Amino acid sequence: MKNVVILGSTGSIGKSTIEVIEANKDDFFIAGLVAKSNEKLLTEQAEKFNVKNVCLTDQNSKNEKFISESKMEDLIVGDQVDIVVAAISGVVGLKTILKAVKAGKRVLIANKEPLVAAGEILMREAEKYNSEIIPIDSEHCAIHQCLQNIDKKDLSKVIITCSGGPFLGKKQKDLKEISIEDALNHPVWKMGNKNLIDSATLMNKALEIIEAKWLFNLSSEEIDVIIHPQSIIHSMIETTDHSILAVLSEPDMKICIAYGLGYPNKIKSLSKPLNLIENNLLEFIDINQIDFPSIKFARDALVSGGIMPAVMNAANEIAVERFINNEIKFDLIFDIIEHVMEKFDIEESIIDPTLDQIINADEKARLTSVKYINNIQ
Ligand code: NDP
Ligand code: MG
Repeated sequence: MKNVVILGSTGSIGKSTIEVIEANKDDFFIAGLVAKSNEKLLTEQAEKFNVKNVCLTDQNSKNEKFISESKMEDLIVGDQVDIVVAAISGVVGLKTILKAVKAGKRVLIANKEPLVAAGEILMREAEKYNSEIIPIDSEHCAIHQCLQNIDKKDLSKVIITCSGGPFLGKKQKDLKEISIEDALNHPVWKMGNKNLIDSATLMNKALEIIEAKWLFNLSSEEIDVIIHPQSIIHSMIETTDHSILAVLSEPDMKICIAYGLGYPNKIKSLSKPLNLIENNLLEFIDINQIDFPSIKFARDALVSGGIMPAVMNAANEIAVERFINNEIKFDLIFDIIEHVMEKFDIEESIIDPTLDQIINADEKARLTSVKYINNIQ
């Protein structure tokens, strides 16, 4: 029996994780649940699965049925817990993930922002403390699976697939009058709002390039992105003999969650099987023909290195939050990220930053983003 703590249990990935655990209940037990403010659902989950250790991080909730964040961290680093599922949205999950890594736990990471901001530190500490980081972001999960039994020297590149999001085919000038409802309307995946907006701007792919860099120790040149509108191939690797290995499945995150929980064994995922006859069209389009600047932001952030991925991520988090609150227009998201990255490139460059320097850069980039928005509105 493996004991699992779910960070972000009330979200899209969190709820799917609970379903997968329920389908494999002889092998997995929910030891702890964490959410921010959805008290109702968190309480229901805790009652249904008889979970004693439940944490609601929102400061407003002082209900005694919940434990504090520090008690939850004690549980995570203690002997009772085997697996931590990181499914909070945003860089805010970083410190807890790092604690789990330093305690040598298996950490299933859906939560890509901490890997973008501090991937080098997380991977270094995972190696040091013997923690298994298993990506459950679908692309990285597919690459992880393709890389089984492949020597690093035999890998020529990874190819991350991208659905193209709801605005595939649109030009930048068409992006001005996009509504929140349009942007949240993803053609394939059902996800939390932050991830949906990131998929619409393609910032999701920008984050995923940097995520792949750290997870698999790659250079920017070894990471390709290709548009694949059907989202049946979840990503690929190319080996030096020019074979391509791919993972195909229904677009269902429960497969990735089951992969991470069961690895290296297979457990029930609850996904329906992929019908290849019904899905007999697999298209690929060059991402460079797409009129969105996001991929360039990621490449630039990797060239600059240091704190720049954290800066890019922070500017994006602020911009997305403002767009969802109906405070800025869609295409301003790109302007904000560009402005903040330029400002940091000129004013600061920190190579090999510490965790504190990353957290400071994140906070400063948020303030710079807000200042920029206030100045131009
Ligand atoms: P959701 O917005 O659906 O859920 C976020 C979860 O995190 C909720 O449980 C929320 O609690 C909790 N949360 C947010 N802030 C805090 C906080 N400060 N402290 C504690 N809990 C917090 O997000 P998703 O499930 O869609 O995404 C989660 C992560 O996984 C993201 O990083 C995303 O990029 C990544 N991901 C998601 C995919 C998907 O298909 N959904 C696919 C690939 C990656 P509450 O409900 O109380 O607000
Ligand atoms: Mg993904």
